[in-house]
Amino acid sequence: MAGEPQADCLFCKITAGEVPATVVRETATTIAFRDINPQAPTHVLVIPKAHYPDAGSLAAADPQLVADMLRETAEVAAEDKVDATGYRVVFNTGAGAGQTVFHVHAHVLGGRGLNWPPG
Ligand code: AMP
Ligand code: ZN
Repeated sequence: MAGEPQADCLFCKITAGEVPATVVRETATTIAFRDINPQAPTHVLVIPKAHYPDAGSLAAADPQLVADMLRETAEVAAEDKVDATGYRVVFNTGAGAGQTVFHVHAHVLGGRGLNWPPG
């Protein structure tokens, strides 16, 4: 069923506490944790606890949960004090765009200059 935990999913395992993570925020519906291979001084992943493979499938199934995630990206940015200098929220979607974990996640990147367009 849509949203149900997937046995082979790394981020479902983090949600279940089966894989450790440096959690910075948690709500009823979301978890935010530091990326294990940070690409910026602030590099936090915000995920829904429910499993959806990518942003589009989540939006189609549960728009409120998209709002929950985006609200949390702003909270993370404020807590890491990158809100004033600017930060980027990225949803890599599909292997060709660099998605490697197929449990939707928002990258929150900040604390350094961010080029546009991104690579
Ligand atoms: P993406 O390439 O957009 O799918 O992003 C997946 C991200 O998950 C990458 O930036 C990885 O560094 C990160 N990642 C992989 N395993 C872990 C982990 N165990 N804890 C935290 N971040 C992870
Ligand atoms: Zn999952």
